[in-house]
Amino acid sequence: MILVGHDPASAVYVRNKVRACEAAGIHSFTHRLHEKVENEELLNLITRLNADPSVHGILVQLPLPAHIDMARILETIAPSKDVDGFHLYNVGALVTGNTVFSPCTPYGVVKLLEHEGIPVEGQNVVVVGASNIVGKPMALMLMARDATVAICHAKARDLAQFTIGADILVVAAGVPGLITAPMVKKGAVVIDVGINRLEDGKIVGDVDFAGVSRRASHITPVPGGVGPMTVTMLLVNTIESAERFYAAQRTAS
Ligand code: NAD
Repeated sequence: MILVGHDPASAVYVRNKVRACEAAGIHSFTHRLHEKVENEELLNLITRLNADPSVHGILVQLPLPAHIDMARILETIAPSKDVDGFHLYNVGALVTGNTVFSPCTPYGVVKLLEHEGIPVEGQNVVVVGASNIVGKPMALMLMARDATVAICHAKARDLAQFTIGADILVVAAGVPGLITAPMVKKGAVVIDVGINRLEDGKIVGDVDFAGVSRRASHITPVPGGVGPMTVTMLLVNTIESAERFYAAQRTAS
Protein backbone atom coordinates (compact mmCIF):
# COMPACT_ATOMS: atom_id res chain seq x y z
CA MET A 1 0.00 0.00 0.00
CA ILE A 2 1.23 3.45 -0.85
CA LEU A 3 -0.15 6.38 1.10
CA VAL A 4 0.87 9.88 0.06
CA GLY A 5 0.32 12.79 2.44
CA HIS A 6 -1.91 13.11 5.49
CA ASP A 7 -5.50 12.98 4.23
CA PRO A 8 -7.34 11.70 7.35
CA ALA A 9 -9.93 9.68 5.41
CA SER A 10 -7.20 8.00 3.33
CA ALA A 11 -5.29 7.14 6.51
CA VAL A 12 -8.42 5.46 7.91
CA TYR A 13 -8.99 3.49 4.69
CA VAL A 14 -5.38 2.30 4.63
CA ARG A 15 -5.53 1.33 8.31
CA ASN A 16 -8.68 -0.72 7.67
CA LYS A 17 -7.02 -2.46 4.73
CA VAL A 18 -3.90 -3.23 6.79
CA ARG A 19 -6.05 -4.73 9.57
CA ALA A 20 -8.05 -6.78 7.08
CA CYS A 21 -4.82 -8.13 5.55
CA GLU A 22 -3.58 -9.12 9.00
CA ALA A 23 -6.86 -10.88 9.77
CA ALA A 24 -6.72 -12.77 6.46
CA GLY A 25 -3.04 -13.74 6.74
CA ILE A 26 -1.84 -11.46 3.93
CA HIS A 27 1.46 -9.67 4.55
CA SER A 28 1.01 -5.96 3.87
CA PHE A 29 3.58 -3.20 3.79
CA THR A 30 2.58 0.45 3.92
CA HIS A 31 4.85 2.95 2.19
CA ARG A 32 4.07 6.39 3.61
CA LEU A 33 5.32 9.19 1.43
CA HIS A 34 5.50 12.91 2.11
CA GLU A 35 2.69 14.97 0.52
CA LYS A 36 5.30 16.89 -1.50
CA VAL A 37 6.90 13.70 -2.86
CA GLU A 38 8.12 13.99 -6.47
CA ASN A 39 6.44 11.98 -9.21
CA GLU A 40 9.75 10.23 -9.96
CA GLU A 41 10.15 8.92 -6.42
CA LEU A 42 6.66 7.47 -6.49
CA LEU A 43 7.24 5.96 -9.94
CA ASN A 44 10.53 4.40 -8.77
CA LEU A 45 8.82 2.83 -5.77
CA ILE A 46 6.11 1.32 -7.98
CA THR A 47 8.74 0.01 -10.42
CA ARG A 48 10.56 -1.69 -7.52
CA LEU A 49 7.33 -3.26 -6.26
CA ASN A 50 6.45 -4.41 -9.81
CA ALA A 51 9.75 -6.32 -9.94
CA ASP A 52 9.45 -7.82 -6.44
CA PRO A 53 8.16 -11.42 -6.75
CA SER A 54 6.97 -11.40 -3.14
CA VAL A 55 4.48 -8.60 -3.91
CA HIS A 56 1.22 -9.67 -5.57
CA GLY A 57 -0.87 -6.55 -5.15
CA ILE A 58 -0.01 -2.85 -5.33
CA LEU A 59 -2.48 -0.26 -4.13
CA VAL A 60 -1.98 3.48 -4.38
CA GLN A 61 -4.50 5.12 -2.04
CA LEU A 62 -6.46 7.83 -3.87
CA PRO A 63 -6.83 10.77 -3.99
CA LEU A 64 -3.26 11.84 -4.66
CA PRO A 65 -2.00 15.40 -4.14
CA ALA A 66 -2.68 17.67 -7.14
CA HIS A 67 0.97 17.84 -8.30
CA ILE A 68 1.10 14.07 -8.81
CA ASP A 69 0.31 12.76 -12.29
CA MET A 70 -2.28 10.22 -11.20
CA ALA A 71 -2.82 8.70 -14.67
CA ARG A 72 0.91 8.05 -15.06
CA ILE A 73 1.14 6.55 -11.57
CA LEU A 74 -1.77 4.17 -12.16
CA GLU A 75 -0.39 3.12 -15.55
CA THR A 76 3.00 2.32 -14.03
CA ILE A 77 1.53 -0.37 -11.78
CA ALA A 78 1.93 -3.76 -13.48
CA PRO A 79 -1.58 -4.76 -14.66
CA SER A 80 -1.03 -8.20 -13.10
CA LYS A 81 -0.56 -6.54 -9.66
CA ASP A 82 -3.21 -3.83 -10.10
CA VAL A 83 -5.61 -5.25 -7.50
CA ASP A 84 -7.68 -2.04 -7.55
CA GLY A 85 -8.36 -2.58 -11.27
CA PHE A 86 -7.62 1.04 -12.24
CA HIS A 87 -4.87 0.47 -14.85
CA LEU A 88 -6.05 1.36 -18.37
CA TYR A 89 -5.37 -2.21 -19.51
CA ASN A 90 -7.61 -3.55 -16.76
CA VAL A 91 -10.31 -0.95 -17.50
CA GLY A 92 -10.29 -2.05 -21.15
CA ALA A 93 -10.38 -5.69 -20.06
CA LEU A 94 -13.46 -4.98 -17.94
CA VAL A 95 -15.20 -3.11 -20.78
CA THR A 96 -14.65 -6.00 -23.20
CA GLY A 97 -15.67 -8.74 -20.75
CA ASN A 98 -12.12 -10.06 -20.21
CA THR A 99 -11.86 -8.94 -16.60
CA VAL A 100 -8.44 -9.19 -14.95
CA PHE A 101 -9.35 -7.50 -11.64
CA SER A 102 -12.79 -6.05 -10.94
CA PRO A 103 -12.64 -2.68 -9.16
CA CYS A 104 -13.26 -3.47 -5.51
CA THR A 105 -16.29 -1.31 -4.67
CA PRO A 106 -18.55 -2.41 -7.55
CA TYR A 107 -17.23 -5.97 -7.13
CA GLY A 108 -18.40 -5.82 -3.50
CA VAL A 109 -21.85 -4.67 -4.65
CA VAL A 110 -22.09 -7.57 -7.09
CA LYS A 111 -21.13 -10.00 -4.30
CA LEU A 112 -23.76 -8.50 -1.97
CA LEU A 113 -26.45 -9.02 -4.63
CA GLU A 114 -25.26 -12.58 -5.30
CA HIS A 115 -25.15 -13.40 -1.60
CA GLU A 116 -28.73 -12.19 -1.09
CA GLY A 117 -29.91 -14.15 -4.16
CA ILE A 118 -31.10 -10.98 -5.88
CA PRO A 119 -31.45 -11.57 -9.62
CA VAL A 120 -29.78 -9.04 -11.90
CA GLU A 121 -30.57 -10.41 -15.35
CA GLY A 122 -33.25 -8.35 -17.08
CA GLN A 123 -33.64 -6.02 -14.09
CA ASN A 124 -33.80 -2.25 -14.47
CA VAL A 125 -30.75 -0.88 -12.70
CA VAL A 126 -30.05 2.80 -12.11
CA VAL A 127 -26.55 3.83 -11.06
CA VAL A 128 -26.35 7.34 -9.63
CA GLY A 129 -22.75 8.54 -10.07
CA ALA A 130 -20.47 8.05 -13.05
CA SER A 131 -16.94 8.07 -11.61
CA ASN A 132 -14.16 5.86 -12.95
CA ILE A 133 -13.78 4.05 -9.64
CA VAL A 134 -17.43 3.36 -8.79
CA GLY A 135 -20.25 4.43 -11.14
CA LYS A 136 -18.82 3.46 -14.54
CA PRO A 137 -17.39 0.04 -13.57
CA MET A 138 -20.59 -0.64 -11.57
CA ALA A 139 -22.71 -0.04 -14.66
CA LEU A 140 -20.41 -2.22 -16.80
CA MET A 141 -20.41 -5.09 -14.33
CA LEU A 142 -24.20 -5.13 -14.05
CA MET A 143 -24.58 -4.77 -17.83
CA ALA A 144 -22.29 -7.81 -18.19
CA ARG A 145 -24.81 -9.67 -16.02
CA ASP A 146 -27.60 -8.70 -18.47
CA ALA A 147 -29.23 -5.90 -16.49
CA THR A 148 -30.65 -2.87 -18.29
CA VAL A 149 -28.58 -0.04 -16.88
CA ALA A 150 -29.06 3.73 -16.78
CA ILE A 151 -26.32 5.96 -15.40
CA CYS A 152 -27.16 9.33 -13.83
CA HIS A 153 -24.69 12.03 -12.86
CA ALA A 154 -24.62 15.57 -11.50
CA LYS A 155 -26.04 17.02 -14.75
CA ALA A 156 -28.92 14.54 -14.94
CA ARG A 157 -32.24 16.38 -15.26
CA ASP A 158 -34.95 15.17 -12.87
CA LEU A 159 -33.05 12.39 -11.11
CA ALA A 160 -36.24 11.00 -9.57
CA GLN A 161 -37.68 10.25 -13.01
CA PHE A 162 -34.88 7.67 -13.40
CA THR A 163 -34.57 6.35 -9.86
CA ILE A 164 -38.30 5.64 -9.48
CA GLY A 165 -38.09 3.03 -12.26
CA ALA A 166 -35.17 1.12 -10.73
CA ASP A 167 -35.52 -2.46 -9.54
CA ILE A 168 -31.97 -2.08 -8.24
CA LEU A 169 -30.71 1.39 -7.34
CA VAL A 170 -26.99 1.90 -6.71
CA VAL A 171 -26.08 5.32 -5.37
CA ALA A 172 -22.50 6.62 -5.44
CA ALA A 173 -22.70 10.40 -5.70
CA GLY A 174 -21.17 11.62 -2.43
CA VAL A 175 -24.23 13.75 -1.60
CA PRO A 176 -25.84 13.09 1.80
CA GLY A 177 -29.61 12.65 1.65
CA LEU A 178 -29.69 12.70 -2.17
CA ILE A 179 -32.13 9.79 -2.42
CA THR A 180 -35.39 10.11 -0.50
CA ALA A 181 -38.32 7.71 -0.16
CA PRO A 182 -40.53 9.22 -2.93
CA MET A 183 -37.67 8.63 -5.43
CA VAL A 184 -37.65 4.87 -4.82
CA LYS A 185 -39.99 2.21 -6.20
CA LYS A 186 -41.70 0.03 -3.58
CA GLY A 187 -39.74 -3.22 -3.18
CA ALA A 188 -36.60 -1.90 -4.87
CA VAL A 189 -33.13 -3.02 -3.82
CA VAL A 190 -31.12 0.01 -2.72
CA ILE A 191 -27.33 -0.05 -2.44
CA ASP A 192 -25.79 3.02 -0.82
CA VAL A 193 -22.12 3.41 -1.74
CA GLY A 194 -21.80 6.99 -0.44
CA ILE A 195 -19.59 7.78 2.54
CA ASN A 196 -20.05 11.35 3.76
CA ARG A 197 -18.77 12.91 6.96
CA LEU A 198 -21.23 15.51 8.31
CA GLU A 199 -20.10 18.57 10.28
CA ASP A 200 -20.91 16.82 13.57
CA GLY A 201 -18.56 13.99 12.55
CA LYS A 202 -21.37 11.54 11.78
CA ILE A 203 -20.81 9.25 8.77
CA VAL A 204 -23.81 8.91 6.44
CA GLY A 205 -24.46 7.60 2.95
CA ASP A 206 -26.27 9.22 0.02
CA VAL A 207 -29.62 7.65 0.87
CA ASP A 208 -32.11 8.74 3.54
CA PHE A 209 -31.92 5.36 5.24
CA ALA A 210 -34.87 5.82 7.63
CA GLY A 211 -37.30 6.88 4.90
CA VAL A 212 -36.09 4.66 2.07
CA SER A 213 -35.88 1.51 4.21
CA ARG A 214 -39.69 1.67 4.54
CA ARG A 215 -40.05 1.30 0.73
CA ALA A 216 -37.10 -0.87 -0.22
CA SER A 217 -37.05 -4.67 -0.04
CA HIS A 218 -33.31 -4.53 0.71
CA ILE A 219 -31.07 -1.61 1.66
CA THR A 220 -27.41 -1.36 2.71
CA PRO A 221 -26.46 0.73 5.76
CA VAL A 222 -23.70 3.34 6.04
CA PRO A 223 -21.40 2.79 7.85
CA GLY A 224 -21.24 -0.91 7.10
CA GLY A 225 -22.67 -2.36 3.91
CA VAL A 226 -20.55 -1.57 0.87
CA GLY A 227 -17.51 -0.16 2.75
CA PRO A 228 -16.37 -3.42 4.37
CA MET A 229 -17.17 -5.28 1.13
CA THR A 230 -14.75 -3.01 -0.74
CA VAL A 231 -11.95 -4.01 1.62
CA THR A 232 -12.93 -7.66 1.36
CA MET A 233 -12.80 -7.64 -2.44
CA LEU A 234 -9.35 -6.07 -2.30
CA LEU A 235 -8.22 -9.12 -0.34
CA VAL A 236 -9.97 -11.42 -2.81
CA ASN A 237 -8.20 -9.74 -5.75
CA THR A 238 -4.84 -9.97 -3.96
CA ILE A 239 -5.23 -13.67 -3.25
CA GLU A 240 -6.36 -14.22 -6.84
CA SER A 241 -3.24 -12.40 -8.01
CA ALA A 242 -0.96 -14.55 -5.83
CA GLU A 243 -2.66 -17.73 -7.04
CA ARG A 244 -2.19 -16.68 -10.67
CA PHE A 245 1.47 -15.90 -9.98
CA TYR A 246 2.19 -19.31 -8.44
CA ALA A 247 0.15 -21.12 -11.11
CA ALA A 248 2.23 -19.40 -13.81
CA GLN A 249 5.43 -20.39 -11.97
CA ARG A 250 4.32 -24.01 -11.82
CA THR A 251 3.54 -23.99 -15.54
CA ALA A 252 6.92 -22.47 -16.31
CA SER A 253 8.90 -25.00 -14.23
P1 NAD B 1 -16.80 11.25 -7.46
O1 NAD B 1 -16.92 12.59 -6.83
O2 NAD B 1 -15.60 10.88 -8.24
O3 NAD B 1 -18.05 11.04 -8.43
C1 NAD B 1 -19.35 11.37 -8.02
C2 NAD B 1 -20.31 11.10 -9.15
O4 NAD B 1 -21.61 11.44 -8.68
C3 NAD B 1 -20.06 11.98 -10.39
O5 NAD B 1 -20.29 11.21 -11.55
C4 NAD B 1 -21.10 13.08 -10.26
O6 NAD B 1 -21.52 13.58 -11.52
C5 NAD B 1 -22.23 12.36 -9.55
N1 NAD B 1 -23.07 13.27 -8.77
C6 NAD B 1 -22.66 14.25 -7.92
N2 NAD B 1 -23.71 14.92 -7.45
C7 NAD B 1 -24.82 14.36 -8.00
C8 NAD B 1 -26.19 14.63 -7.91
N3 NAD B 1 -26.68 15.63 -7.15
N4 NAD B 1 -27.05 13.86 -8.63
C9 NAD B 1 -26.59 12.85 -9.40
N5 NAD B 1 -25.28 12.55 -9.53
C10 NAD B 1 -24.40 13.30 -8.83
O7 NAD B 1 -17.06 10.22 -6.28
P2 NAD B 1 -16.72 8.64 -6.14
O8 NAD B 1 -15.29 8.47 -5.90
O9 NAD B 1 -17.40 7.87 -7.22
O10 NAD B 1 -17.48 8.34 -4.77
C11 NAD B 1 -18.86 8.57 -4.63
C12 NAD B 1 -19.26 8.32 -3.19
O11 NAD B 1 -18.97 6.97 -2.85
C13 NAD B 1 -18.49 9.17 -2.17
O12 NAD B 1 -19.33 9.43 -1.09
C14 NAD B 1 -17.35 8.25 -1.74
O13 NAD B 1 -16.88 8.55 -0.44
C15 NAD B 1 -18.06 6.93 -1.76
N6 NAD B 1 -17.18 5.79 -1.97
C16 NAD B 1 -17.40 4.72 -1.17
C17 NAD B 1 -16.65 3.58 -1.32
C18 NAD B 1 -16.94 2.43 -0.43
O14 NAD B 1 -16.09 1.58 -0.23
N7 NAD B 1 -18.16 2.32 0.12
C19 NAD B 1 -15.64 3.52 -2.27
C20 NAD B 1 -15.45 4.62 -3.11
C21 NAD B 1 -16.24 5.74 -2.95
